[in-house]
Amino acid sequence: MTTIKKILIANRGEIACRVMRTCQRLGISTVAVYSEADAKALHAEVADEAYLIGPPAARESYLVMDKILDVAKKTGADAIHPGYGFLSENEEFAEACEKAGIIFIGPPASAILAMGGKSEAKALMEKARVPLVPGYHGDKQDERFLSAEAEKIGYPVLIKASAGGGGKGMRVVETAKDFSEQLAGAKREAKAAFGDDHVLIEKYLANPRHVEIQVFADRQGNTVYLFERDCSIQRRHQKVLEEAPAPGLSEATREKMGAAAVAAAKAIGYVGAGTVEFLLDAKENFYFMEMNTRLQVEHPVTEYITGLDLVELQIRVAEGQKLPFTQNDLKIDGHAMEVRLYAEDPANNFLPGAGQIKFLRFPLESDKVRVDAGVREAPFGQGDTISIHYDPMIAKVIAHGKDRKTCIETLKRALDETMVAGPKTNLVFLRTLLSNKAFIEGKVSTHFIKEHEKELLPAKHALSKETLGLAVLGLMKERERMPSAPDAASPWNDLSAWRIGGADVETFKFTDGGKEHIVTATSRRGFSHPELSVEGKKIAAAFEGSSYDLSYDAKLDGQHFNAVLLHEGRHLTLMYGSHHEELHYLDPLSYEAEDDEGDGRLHAPMPGKVVAVRVELGSKVKKGQPLIIVEAMKMEHTITAPSDGEVLSIHARVGDQVDEKLELIAFK
Ligand code: ADP
Repeated sequence: MTTIKKILIANRGEIACRVMRTCQRLGISTVAVYSEADAKALHAEVADEAYLIGPPAARESYLVMDKILDVAKKTGADAIHPGYGFLSENEEFAEACEKAGIIFIGPPASAILAMGGKSEAKALMEKARVPLVPGYHGDKQDERFLSAEAEKIGYPVLIKASAGGGGKGMRVVETAKDFSEQLAGAKREAKAAFGDDHVLIEKYLANPRHVEIQVFADRQGNTVYLFERDCSIQRRHQKVLEEAPAPGLSEATREKMGAAAVAAAKAIGYVGAGTVEFLLDAKENFYFMEMNTRLQVEHPVTEYITGLDLVELQIRVAEGQKLPFTQNDLKIDGHAMEVRLYAEDPANNFLPGAGQIKFLRFPLESDKVRVDAGVREAPFGQGDTISIHYDPMIAKVIAHGKDRKTCIETLKRALDETMVAGPKTNLVFLRTLLSNKAFIEGKVSTHFIKEHEKELLPAKHALSKETLGLAVLGLMKERERMPSAPDAASPWNDLSAWRIGGADVETFKFTDGGKEHIVTATSRRGFSHPELSVEGKKIAAAFEGSSYDLSYDAKLDGQHFNAVLLHEGRHLTLMYGSHHEELHYLDPLSYEAEDDEGDGRLHAPMPGKVVAVRVELGSKVKKGQPLIIVEAMKMEHTITAPSDGEVLSIHARVGDQVDEKLELIAFK
């Protein structure tokens, strides 16, 4: 038995911070590593020691084993926690740690290897008699053979990268005629993301649920399951909300799945925290998908329903301690749910985004609400940056309740207290999801988001009078905060509509999809009750309580609001309650060129590399037809024609590195 006194965390962002939280509670000192892009990142700041390991690209920093091991040796760390992603499922790294006499907080290298490839894992589970999704997971890779297998399995099929993860290198193929193109795409993406284009083919199940089992094993051979997590709510085949227990799952199935997961772990001599992922059909038949040999992003929901700290357990098991409980000691306490707050654009197929956070406020934490973040709150503006080099997750918000309904309500309140401006995020989408009737009824499946798209992604609504009123109050507050001119008392330095002896009357104009909205404000100097007239209707308004920096309290027609307004040129972001509104303000002091959207120019959605150009000069195209494929954040993004038309010019070639907003195609 060893005692771990110092841990190097070979990761970044929220998981690095989360591991450090437990270390601090246990009195274990922490070592962070960071890339140049993360010099000011939270994880590097909260660690006891932090070391630069290279440039922003992960393959030159977070994925370089030697650099990380060097830091571990130099600092005398007893152990390395790999988090998730990066080197967490790399058996060579686990081995290299052991060779260097440093404890790898994870399973033995042999267990990682056994489950490393989806294909090998399936072959192994077949032997252990764990039920599998029908498909082909052998070595043969030539197209003719694979397409014949697909035919045998029956369409629709799913092509998956064996080395896959994060939904990369995964394509649904509906009919035989698309097979060739989708295979090429899956292989290309797999090669780019994992350096390995080996694929497998599975039957694409109609509308399953994703239910996974958390397992835990010690070195003494005790293996238990810590119940399930339902991770069915997904977009692009990736999780966005997770909960435990799985709504409506029968006790009998829970026990069967638990036993199958424990059998899978035992079959490979598993040690530590692991997750066995299954697909579940409507009749509660379950099929093995893969095993993740590490801590999962969604582990907090299991921590809530079991009252355990999984990172602490990982550390204790790594020290050689026995699990302090048996299966019979474990019980499910209430319900827990996690949402992943991402920099992404739900309206644009959840395209991942990046950029500087301009404002960030998290909900208050309690025994019922937890926030796991890798970025700091930025209540005064200008916060951390979501980098294009890494995962675009901003934070996880997790809630616990005595039952599912209470849990949803608590999480909803927590999200109403959350505010973020800067890159586009899925915050409003998550709020809408938690209020969705079918979701509340627990009718979840992996196609839930697609099937409820209309309700979850409502068309843009008209600007309400509250929104317009609060925006104007925010602009008035902003002006008060402006740095005073040398002679602030002089009327010549006053930006408001000041006039001798009288009341100020000012007009504010906003546009919204071509429609103009006008608000007039009548106020007297030093008087906090302006009278607003929103499109001719009077509203009594008052500033209230404290206002600091971007945040202000106000009353409109008797109703209280706390709002935050960000003003950049003609763009306003207004956040209050469950609202996040973007307004176009015709600021008389700002002379920006009007947007060029809708003029037939198509731009790169984010910085990336052009991997395919599907049209030629003069091509006649149909609405929705793929034009150009850009690879960014290791995923392919297809830019399609916004309407029927003709290609006027093409500004990118295959292999070009393109910047965000660079014009790619002009189009008539
Ligand atoms: P990754 O490791 O890239 O995340 P997974 O194999 O875990 O990929 O699958 C991700 C998701 O894709 C699953 O949660 C599920 O929603 C969907 N999926 C995977 N395999 C199938 C299948 N055979 N049929 C239907 N959906 C599937």
